[in-house]
Amino acid sequence: MTDWQGKHVTVAGLGVSGIPAAKVLHGLGAVVTVVNDGDDERARAQAAELEALGITVRLGDGATLPEGTELIVTAPGWKPDKPLFEAARAAGLEIWGDVELAWRLRGRDGREAAPWLAVTGTNGKTTTVQMLASILTAAGLRTAAVGNIGVSLLDAVLGEEQYDVLAVELSSYQLHWAPSLRAHSAVVLNLAPDHLDWHGSMEAYARDKGRVYEGNRVACVYNAADKATEDLVREADVEEGCRAIGFTLGTPGPSQLGVVEGILVDRAFVENRQKNAQELAEVADVNPPAPHNVANALAAAALARAFGVPPKAVRDGLRAFTPDAHRIAHVADVDGVAYVDDSKATNTHAAEASLAAYESIVWIAGGLAKGAAFDELVAKSAKRLRGVVLIGADRALIREALARHAPEVPVVDLDRTDTGAMLAAVREARRLSERGDTVLLAPACASMDMFTNYNKRGEAFADAVRELASADG
Ligand code: ADP
Repeated sequence: MTDWQGKHVTVAGLGVSGIPAAKVLHGLGAVVTVVNDGDDERARAQAAELEALGITVRLGDGATLPEGTELIVTAPGWKPDKPLFEAARAAGLEIWGDVELAWRLRGRDGREAAPWLAVTGTNGKTTTVQMLASILTAAGLRTAAVGNIGVSLLDAVLGEEQYDVLAVELSSYQLHWAPSLRAHSAVVLNLAPDHLDWHGSMEAYARDKGRVYEGNRVACVYNAADKATEDLVREADVEEGCRAIGFTLGTPGPSQLGVVEGILVDRAFVENRQKNAQELAEVADVNPPAPHNVANALAAAALARAFGVPPKAVRDGLRAFTPDAHRIAHVADVDGVAYVDDSKATNTHAAEASLAAYESIVWIAGGLAKGAAFDELVAKSAKRLRGVVLIGADRALIREALARHAPEVPVVDLDRTDTGAMLAAVREARRLSERGDTVLLAPACASMDMFTNYNKRGEAFADAVRELASADG
């Protein structure tokens, strides 16, 4: 569909992806109708803004397919089993997500479309995309980290700025709705159960993640420690000559990147035929050098190397990178105890990675469990736990797992949700800690039972730590 003039397009969902999509399509000459389930004050204000441009908006009715619709462009979060989509499929219509729309619109105005280096996985996407953008920038390429944070995909594709290559973060929802996306190279960082209520099953979730490899031209990068990601590469239909490239925290095999004696090395893309490995950077160049973050750095390096970036730019890019807030952020040392904010660890897989980065931990955990089970996380981390402070709605699930797998570990169960609860939690954590320990906020849960989002939860933790530190001084 290259001629948009007069095309009837239905945009499903107001919001961060729907509003810009509606505006862009309208600007291209399409006849746009936006349908939205909600009909609250915010939706009405957004609708008024679009209607002023000449876009039709139907509030409180996201189920009925508007007459004459030729294409649906949906917000990625809309579930595939919605009645609107059933009606669309019955009518033989295509359904595109925001990523598909951006993919189809790239290169529209005659300029060359920048290739995409795509990153997905259960955890580590944002960090890896930012590391990758930092490396590409260090190589002198015009690039941007695109996705949940930073530049939006539509802006990256249609805006004034010209790019040589894009580092693109993609969620499983977005991939579900992006059937024709073909990346230059891509990585699935890891696969653990998440969002299963949306996808319906682990198989369906993995299948959607695996879409990122479809049609890759140069490299499909997988995590050698997570066989499911390698399986997805094997199942993908890729361009001839596209290589499977692994990353590992151990010694790399051929066609892998890995770590040898504290050095990140590349055995997949070696320029000098006399050598069988290329040194890229030191583990100490990765910020923070926690194992899961070194894995992110290797994945970013693999994609950059697939794009032809020299080793020095990998090192310079990693050195220039600073992680986003609330991702293993060191807040302060108080009485020889380090306080670390990993509020972004909103699922068990992320929390497991954080806990694995420290030896002796007082763990602050809890919140909304989203149907998760905690046995594996607690069993794997038990030996590192000095103590645990539980907060939030689903504390009991973690408490029970601790009773089963770590009965010796002291647990403080804080039955509070008021604004002072985090300060109380940090006080309790301090009481349980000893010099040399780390007090780690890695909740393994979503935050919305007590906070607006994980940012606010992390800020509350950092404020509480500072208060303790200043009371001391
Ligand atoms: P995403 O964008 O996928 O949510 P982020 O880069 O924002 O990922 O990191 C989210 C959290 O996931 C971090 O705070 C950390 O706890 C954890 N994490 C980051 N990288 C990894 C990884 N490679 N494996 C497991 N957990 C990770």
